[in-house]
Amino acid sequence: MSGIDGLRDKMDEVTLEMIRLLKARTDIALSIGRLKEDAGIPVTDESREENLRQKIISLCGEIGLEESIATRHLNFLLNESVNVQSAGRNTHLSVFHKAKELERQGQKIIHMEVGEPDFAPPEMVGEALGEACARGYTRYGQARGRPEVLEALARHISKEFHPTPQDNVMISPGARFSVYATITTLLSPGDEMVTIEPAWPAYRDCALNSGIKTRVIGTTLEEEWEPDPGRIEDMVNSNTKMIILNYPNNPTGKILPEKLQNDIMDIAVKNNLYVLSDEIYSAYSKNWKSVLSYEYENSIITQSFSKSHAMTGLRIGYAIARSTIIDRISRLGALCLTSVSEPIQYAAMRALEADTSEFAGIMQKRLDVLSREAGKIGLEFAAPDGAMYLFARTGIDGTRLADEALGRGLAVAPGEGFGRYGDHVRISACQNEKTLIDGMNILSGLVGEHR
Ligand code: PMP
Repeated sequence: MSGIDGLRDKMDEVTLEMIRLLKARTDIALSIGRLKEDAGIPVTDESREENLRQKIISLCGEIGLEESIATRHLNFLLNESVNVQSAGRNTHLSVFHKAKELERQGQKIIHMEVGEPDFAPPEMVGEALGEACARGYTRYGQARGRPEVLEALARHISKEFHPTPQDNVMISPGARFSVYATITTLLSPGDEMVTIEPAWPAYRDCALNSGIKTRVIGTTLEEEWEPDPGRIEDMVNSNTKMIILNYPNNPTGKILPEKLQNDIMDIAVKNNLYVLSDEIYSAYSKNWKSVLSYEYENSIITQSFSKSHAMTGLRIGYAIARSTIIDRISRLGALCLTSVSEPIQYAAMRALEADTSEFAGIMQKRLDVLSREAGKIGLEFAAPDGAMYLFARTGIDGTRLADEALGRGLAVAPGEGFGRYGDHVRISACQNEKTLIDGMNILSGLVGEHR
């Protein structure tokens, strides 16, 4: 026993030393975080992280430690640094909450920060909510959704996107929950997932919340927001488990050229990566190819009634994947929610009867108005292929601009929420044309003052 006791003492010593070092590392991360904030530098720096990763890989060779064990632990440490440095990050949601508070105090705000269609949901949604109780939609149900709702959805998906059986569908309260459930149930702490920025901030936040490391492929306006497949391939290692695609994209409105999307799918298949394809803006876009059509067994597609049927507040969306994946992710649904509200499921099923095709044409006209007005102000942007946003470079700190705009009654989303895009803002087209022009006039005045 004395041999074990001695080793246990040593184990305690090493562990306590690791904790002391963790404290020292966290203090350094905090100091760096403060300096970054003062200098307006983004929290994450891929090249700096990669530099450290390479040093660790070469150390592993010297000391005889398996590389993937060391890099998994590195991922925990990097996430910890991001956590302590990210507290004050500004996103479209932080502006939205400030705008709501100003409205509560009586100020009038033009909301061009969130992607919330101002259309009314289809008429039958209201009728369905009235009917739901009489029709027995008042019970606990299956975590995946009521069978007849799943069946109607599977028919809709098969008609609109790609033939899909109902076992491959899970209903969730908004696509947001499907995204969260997919990331957290398919990946484990220390795993890596690749995102292409600019990106909806929730992908990174879901990962961070679960100890999963986000690796970022940044794209630029000059590259027309197209990622280089070679860089994606170089980034993949034994810890990489997923890539997230979001086309039509929030915030740029970009749709990938088919050849580029094919190349990315080839990399995913070759490396056995899950592909989470968030396609919730597809209803507002033409010439777009669903990842469903690749019939890749490790793909998960998320969709939502929020945008396609203007039903944001009803909170209903869905995920499409092979049935074994659906079973895994719907277990989290059972754990957190039991099931999705039955009246809402019924309303969504009835909403599928509606023709909402006019929404896309209206949104396209509004995007044209935004592009025209942004052009007049001299903002730099790529005309969106779809979705409902314009992502524009202003040459001015986006967070400051968003703050000042709010003071004048206009809410826009600062670029820093979507990645390293501090001098960009995202402008949402979810208002009528007159309101959009009023909003752009406020922006024009502000930009003019800064020049
Ligand atoms: N994915 C993307 C890209 C989004 O922009 C949003 C919401 N703005 C969502 C998912 C979530 O949508 P919901 O939960 O309302 O279905």
